[in-house]
Amino acid sequence: MIEIEHLTKRYGTTTVVDDVSFEVDEGSLTVVVGTSGAGKSTLLRMINRLVEPSAGRVLIDGEDTRTIPEEELRHRIGYVIQGYGLFPHRNVAANIATVPRLLGWDRKKIAQRVDELLDLFQLDPAEFAQKFPHELSGGQQQRVGVARALAARPSLLLMDEPFGALDAVIRAKAQDDLLAIQRRLGTTIVLVTHDMNEAFHLGDHIAVMDQARLLQHATPAELLMHP
Ligand code: ADP
Ligand code: ADP
Repeated sequence: MIEIEHLTKRYGTTTVVDDVSFEVDEGSLTVVVGTSGAGKSTLLRMINRLVEPSAGRVLIDGEDTRTIPEEELRHRIGYVIQGYGLFPHRNVAANIATVPRLLGWDRKKIAQRVDELLDLFQLDPAEFAQKFPHELSGGQQQRVGVARALAARPSLLLMDEPFGALDAVIRAKAQDDLLAIQRRLGTTIVLVTHDMNEAFHLGDHIAVMDQARLLQHATPAELLMHP
């Protein structure tokens, strides 16, 4: 379980995330939804400590993230940034292998993991492992981005607008694929979007943010009854 307690971020005199608290159950998917500038990305980046909170803390399975070494945190928390952040000069296999390489896995284990992930994301290893990001469609790049984030079997996956760049038809399929993969792997996910439809489609819980504050944290059914 992830416990987010009173997370706050101030830049100078501006508070961009203001005292946000909620819990994320093991194996569940929480969508953080809100308009641009609400503080969603900053909240996500405080969870993996790419942004240092001004106040508050995050517990992962009861452990304060401040006590977890940086390398272990990168291992335990996968992160898909907006636009996926694929390294343009590395092929698909090398992109997916990024974190396992940082962790010093041996070559054979890395190669097996890359093949396994390509299969999981319906990308034939023989066709795709050696391709470069610019040779892929948007939907294929998106799958490689998620595969890379899952490579070291993180217990938590953070996703920032992971479908924002996809057109409507591909987006719907990518959303359903994510749900299927999540059910299969049991990964806990926190996903950020500005799209309320996406929040209702994907979320077990929805956290609504506006102007740095958490307005609601509820299930989709509860939000429909008490909007
Ligand atoms: P969202 O993801 O909801 O669009 P962000 O978390 O990206 O929101 O940004 C929230 C607010 O914090 C915005 O007003 C943004 O300009 C501000 N902000 C984000 N990062 C910084 C920073 N490093 N320095 C100053 N202000 C920042
Ligand atoms: P480079 O040679 O380009 O510095 P490295 O192999 O040293 O690349 O990898 C560092 C890069 O890996 C960083 O730019 C960072 O963004 C990325 N990275 C580290 N941890 C993760 C992670 N958990 N998920 C996605 N990318 C990561």
